[in-house]
Amino acid sequence: MINYGIETYYIEKGEDRIELKGASCKTLYWIYLDKAEIVLPWKPKWEYHFTNLEINWNLVWQNVHNNMLQYKVQSKLWEFMNLNFISSFNLNRMYNTSNLCLQCKMPEENIFHIQIYCPISKRIYEKFFPLLNAIFQIDFTEKEFAFGLDIPDWENQKKEKLRNYVFSIIKYTIFKERCKIQTSNEQKIESIFNKSKQFIIKDLKLGFELAKKKKSLTKFKENFLIKNIIAQYREDTKDLVFNI
Ligand SMILES: [Zn+2]
Repeated sequence: MINYGIETYYIEKGEDRIELKGASCKTLYWIYLDKAEIVLPWKPKWEYHFTNLEINWNLVWQNVHNNMLQYKVQSKLWEFMNLNFISSFNLNRMYNTSNLCLQCKMPEENIFHIQIYCPISKRIYEKFFPLLNAIFQIDFTEKEFAFGLDIPDWENQKKEKLRNYVFSIIKYTIFKERCKIQTSNEQKIESIFNKSKQFIIKDLKLGFELAKKKKSLTKFKENFLIKNIIAQYREDTKDLVFNI
C-alpha cells in the first residue's frame, strides 16, 4: 500500500493504482487473492494422505458448493475439506486426551477417520449403497468418501450430482449425530440411517414447494427425481410420493 498524500491511500493492482477509499470489498478481496501467497494448510494434508491419487481441486470444491445442497450442509463439507473440525485425533495431539472415536469407540488413526475409516460411518454408507448405486452405478472408493464423485461436464453429470447430494447429506448427518449416545452400534447405525433419509425427504419437500412457487418444477424433476428413485411426482395429486 502506498501513501501518496496525507489522506489518500492507494493499492497497486498490476500497473494500476486504485484509491482505497472508493474500492469495493469485492475489488479488495480479488487484489488480496492476487497478491497474497495464500496459505492452504488443508491441501498438503490431503495430498500427503492420498499420495497416489490425482485430486482435481476445482471439481472437489464444486462438490462442496453443490447448489442442490442447503447452505448448512455445504458449510459442513467446507469444514471437512479444510480439516477444520474437532476430532478425538486432534484433541489427543493437542491435550493428550482420549483419541477414541465418539462414534465407534475405536482409536482414530488420523483426522480423516470419521469421514473415511470409521466402521460405523462405513456401515451407514453401505446401507445407502443400493440407493446410491441406483442413482449412478459405481462402486464405493475412499476418494468418494472424502470428496464425492468427480463431476466433469459430461452426460452423467446430473446423476453424479444427485449421488453426491445424497452422500453429502449422509456425511452431514453422521457428523451431527456422532456424539449422541445410543445403546448399541446397531441402534446408532439405524438411527443415523433414518435421520439421513428424513433429512432428504424434508429437504425435497421444501425444494418441491419452492419449485412450485417459482414455476421451476421441470428443473426440480430433472435434478432430484431422476428415474423416480428417491421420489416421484404424481400428476393426479400434484404431489410427491417418496420411494426411500
Ligand atoms: Zn469411528
